[in-house]
Parts: sequence; C-alpha cells; structure tokens
Amino acid sequence: MDLFKKKWKHFGIKQINDFLTYFNNQWCKSNNGWLEKYSVGIQSTSNALESFHDKIKKDLKDKRFGIIEFLNECESNLIHRWSTRKSPTLTLIRDGESVITDNLNIKTFDNEPFISSNDYTEAYKWNRLNKSIIVYNDQLFMPDGKKKTLSKEDCKLYLEELQQKNWSSFDMMIEFLDSIHIVSLNKENWKLSICSCSFWLKNLHCSHVISCAYRSKLCSFDSIGMNLPIERNKKRGPQSETANAYNKQPGENDKDDELILPVTKKSKVKSSQERQDQQVCPKCNTPMLKRRYWYCENKC
Ligand SMILES: [Zn+2]
Ligand SMILES: [Zn+2]
Repeated sequence: MDLFKKKWKHFGIKQINDFLTYFNNQWCKSNNGWLEKYSVGIQSTSNALESFHDKIKKDLKDKRFGIIEFLNECESNLIHRWSTRKSPTLTLIRDGESVITDNLNIKTFDNEPFISSNDYTEAYKWNRLNKSIIVYNDQLFMPDGKKKTLSKEDCKLYLEELQQKNWSSFDMMIEFLDSIHIVSLNKENWKLSICSCSFWLKNLHCSHVISCAYRSKLCSFDSIGMNLPIERNKKRGPQSETANAYNKQPGENDKDDELILPVTKKSKVKSSQERQDQQVCPKCNTPMLKRRYWYCENKC
C-alpha cells in the first residue's frame, strides 16, 4: 500500500490524494478483508448465506420466533427438504410402498474447482510455450512473459526478494510478483493445487496448475483433442522447434529438478490418441489425418 500511495502521490493532484486517504482508511484499515488472498479457500461473498436467509424467511412466512420455536420450525419444515436435494438417492412412497430411486434433480456440490475445456485449451497453449518448470523447495517455479527458462538461483533470489519486500515502486513490485509463478502441486488431487498468480486467486485454477499437472502426468489434454490447433502436414518424429527443445532439455538439466515433457511421452499420448480414433481412407487405405474433420493426405 505504501508503494501504491507513493506512485499516485507523485502526481500531486488533490483529488487523487483525497481518494488515496479515503481508500486507505476505508479499504486498508477498517475493511481489509476484501482481498481474495485474505482467506484462501473461504467464500468471498455472503451470497449463499443471504440466499439461505431469504429461503428461511419465505418458508417461515416472515414470522418471528424465539430460538427454540425457530429450531423446531426448521427441523419440521426446512431441514428435511433441504437434505434430500443433495442426496444421490431418494426414498419415495409409491403405491403405499417405499421405493429407493436415483435423485434426478440432485444438486451436486463441487469439492474441487471446475475446469472447463476452454481452461484446458488455454493451459495447452501455455504449455506449448515450452517454458521450463523448475522444482525448488518442493514447489514448481515457472517464468512469466517472454522469459522461457529459470535457474534454481532465480528461484532462490525470487523467494529472498519476496521476503525482503525491498521494492522501490508499486509498478516494480507488481512486475516482480508477476515475473514468476509458483505452484504447489497437490499430487492426490491436482485440481486442488495452488498457484501464486492472480488468476488462480480469483478462479482457483489456472493454466500453470493444469500444465504442471500435465507434465507430472496427473492429467491429460485428451478431452479437448478436437479443439486443439492441429498443425498442417505434421509428420511423425521430432521436426518442430518444440520437439527439439524437448530433446535438448533432459541433457541440459538435472531430470529431478525440472518438469519437462519428454518426447517419448508426447508421442505416446499422440499415438494412443491416434489409435483410438484412427481412420483410414476408404479409397487408398492411407491413414487419414485430422483437421476439423477427417481428410485424406492424398486428397482422394
Ligand atoms: Zn497460475
Ligand atoms: Zn485416400
């Protein structure tokens, strides 16, 4: 906050200074809980609570109860109905007999972040940037922006600077914070992994987490196979720049210290994908290639 103030005080404009004073008092001193990072993993709005409050008021028809009557009322009116909504099965009375059926209107409760195929596609693109992911202190470090590689020394310096907080301006601090992303990978459920980037704080998932999970073989991009940009005339075997980079890296770096995409793995994934939905040209029997649709290499 001090650096933020410094940045804007610099202009010497009264309105800005007034706003800064207001902002500091209102949002940094008295109400400082708005930052997503304030309590990670806890709901950031009271919307759900308010909705429950509204339902309680409606169901009890805005009557006011003492606490005991209120709890009794809840038990007989509310709890019973609510708990069936999330139950996978329901006990129904049909022709005088109780029957257990699947609850078709089940409301599922997400225990992990939902990752859409769009998120996977974004992560796939990020992964294709072929940045190095360094294992340091049990965490995964990766560079942002144009930078492609990181050394252990970089990771160490980053953590030290993070501790010292010696930034001279707000912009430098933000630039520094964004320069490296740190993922703490959850190996039991990769979706619960944590990243230091701002996108993660808002959405509880990000391309970095997905890519780390992918390179650790905890997830795959198979589910979005059809949406991936497929290069034209792609021949088997390493030929692209990316493939060469994959080849180079294992020799350059200590295998234990970097999460890389080995060539074997990439081709394995590819070939298993191909095997599943391989199609052959009905005229010349050549395996067909896929763009948006199946087509034959020989344009038959
Ligand atoms: Zn991230
Ligand atoms: Zn053909």
